Amino acid sequence: MPPKNFTCKLCGYCCLNLLEAYYTSLHPDDIELWRKEGREDILAWVVVTSTNNPYDRYHAWISPITGEDVKRCPWLRKLPNKSEYICRIDEVKPKHCRQYPTSRKHAEDTGCRGFD
Ligand code: SF4
Ligand code: SF4
Repeated sequence: MPPKNFTCKLCGYCCLNLLEAYYTSLHPDDIELWRKEGREDILAWVVVTSTNNPYDRYHAWISPITGEDVKRCPWLRKLPNKSEYICRIDEVKPKHCRQYPTSRKHAEDTGCRGFD
């Protein structure tokens, strides 16, 4: 459930500025889902670390070409002739994307315009 009075404006800010708004650690359920669905295209952007902590094991989004964190999410698409953005993997996007923002404070702290 989104926070009360929140409406996503499709501005894309959260996905264009990952280093400000994003948790890089993925929930293990995301990995399990992508493996089950055969989403190698998504898994290619995930780095697996050697830690035993399952909640800090998988990190996104890491370019498979440079090995670096990307600033803009690779799954973001700008709608033609509009200043609106959509997620190309909406149906299987990471848990923390589905839960973002968790509160008005979280939105304000990370530049989200969903409460404007
Ligand atoms: S996966 Fe989708 S919702 Fe999550 S950061 Fe990328 S474009 Fe945004
Ligand atoms: S920054 Fe907030 S309003 Fe803009 S796309 Fe992301 S969730 Fe929606």
